[in-house]
Formats: sequence, C-alpha cells, structure tokens
Amino acid sequence: MIYKLKYIFYMFIFYTIICFMIFSPSSLVFANIITSIRPLAFIAAGVVDGIMPIQILLPDGFSPHDYSLKPSDFKKIKQADLVIWIGPDMEKFLQKPISRLSKNKHIAVTELNSIKSLLITDFYSKNNYFNNKDKDKNNKYRINYQYNMHVWLSPKIACIIAQSICNNLIKIYPEKKEKLRLNFYEFKKNIKQNDILVNNILNSSRKKKYFVFHDAYSYFEKYYKLSPLGCFTINPEIQPGIKKIYQIQNQFIINKVQCIFLEPQFNSAVINNIIKKTKINIGILDPLGIGLPIYRDSYMKFLIRLSKQYVNCLN
Ligand SMILES: [Zn+2]
Repeated sequence: MIYKLKYIFYMFIFYTIICFMIFSPSSLVFANIITSIRPLAFIAAGVVDGIMPIQILLPDGFSPHDYSLKPSDFKKIKQADLVIWIGPDMEKFLQKPISRLSKNKHIAVTELNSIKSLLITDFYSKNNYFNNKDKDKNNKYRINYQYNMHVWLSPKIACIIAQSICNNLIKIYPEKKEKLRLNFYEFKKNIKQNDILVNNILNSSRKKKYFVFHDAYSYFEKYYKLSPLGCFTINPEIQPGIKKIYQIQNQFIINKVQCIFLEPQFNSAVINNIIKKTKINIGILDPLGIGLPIYRDSYMKFLIRLSKQYVNCLN
C-alpha cells in the first residue's frame, strides 16, 4: 500500500514538472543574449524581460578595463544570438572574438552613430595629460584616451542603447516585435519617472566638492549636475604619479573637499596612503552595480543606489 502511494506521489511530481516545462515559459524565447558588463544587462532587461534571458560575461568584482576572457567565455560568445558590449576602446579583450561574429550579432554601443555624437572627452584629455605617457603606442589595440567610454551611466544614452537592442532583436525575432516595443517604451517612461527620484536624492549634494577614484562618472555627473573636482586616474590600470598626487593634495586644502570616493573593484595603496593623512570622508561608488539582480527595473535601481552612495559621503 505504502509503495503504491509512493508511486502515485512520484508520478504526480513527474507530470507536474512536465506540465510546467511545457506550459509555463511559453512566452520565453530561448535566445542567447550576452552583455559584457552588468549595467548593459540592466538596460537590456528593460527591453527583453519576460521574453528572453540574459547572460553577463564579466563576473562581479572584475573590471572591463583589464578583464581576460576564459575559454568558456569564447564558447558563449560564439554561440550568442546577440552580444551587447561597450566597444573596442574600453573592452579590448572582446575585440578579437567579436570580429569573428557577423555584424548583426553584436552591438558595440560606443560605435553607434547616435551615441558617437554624445561622447564626452576624458577629464584630462584637454591637458594632454597622457600624451607623453602612452606606453601602448605600438599596440594595435591601443587605449583611446580621447573619449570617456563609461556611457552606461547616462540615462539618455541608456535609452538609445535600449532602442538599438530593441531594433536588433525585432530583426531576429519579428514575432516578438510588439512585446519588445512595448517594453522599450515602458523603459523610457520609467527612466523619466526615475529622474525625479534621483534628482531629489542628489539635491542637497550638488555643490559639494569631491574626488573620484577613476574617471567613470562624468556622464552621470553631467546629467545630474554634480560638482566633481577630478579623479585620481582615467584608467584604473594606470596608477597616478607623484606629481598628480601632489596636485590633488593641494586641491584638498584649497577647495574644501568633502569626500573621496573609492571603488569596490580596485584597491590602490598609493591613494589609501594619501587619504590616511586627511580627515576627508571616504565613500564607495560602484559603477558596475555589483550584485543587483537582472529585472526590467534594474537600471533605475542601479541609478538610485549610485545616487545614495554619493549622498552618504557628501552629506
Ligand atoms: Zn572605468
């Protein structure tokens, strides 16, 4: 009797799982959408949430400035239906594997014409800060110091990226056209509403002076009208020199610096040493949204979290 009951129970579980597999994800397309970094997945999720899953290439804690692909990453890229990445100037590690994909299988967001015209120059480009120091001159994948590539931190650019993802996916999955478009319009609307919240959070911090670890936040700061004094480095792979540190230390005194922001991805002994000698607040800014799950409203949550990180140190 007990065996019979057990048999019925197991059969019930088995058929429930089969029914779930057949009917539940009926609206989900099993596509391979890959983004290089987490914030691009936040933006993509605004368009594809409820339609297809997204994979992120870079694990949390790694930086797009110096990542090296694992063998399994190459396989993922090869099998992808669409790879969304920042572009060759920031993500050199993706340049070769992506050059083997057909044009319609990837979006390099900083290469989109509608975004090229919105790129802003690096903090020190005007002063030719790096011109004499570029050790990579003979490398054909040389770092481009002319433009700041952290475009995902501009809500305006995020909308253009979302639109491009939407248009690309409509070409691959025309049967999902309506849902993709609807999601995109919803994403745009949410960003506008979120702007009010972020502006309210940042209101009291607009005129406070601060330094950031690396030049990642210019798009966010420009969009929300914050007042940074500068950064320790444009590229976190390059440590600031003695002259640069001396200049920054002088700024601490002249400008009444309120806060110095470090990042969870990097630990700099040089900078930690300078900070030890001051009484300035230390804050953490995370430009990559570590640990935030991927949902349709993740991009908004990411901006809210970042603005709270600013305020926690500045106020
Ligand atoms: Zn960066």
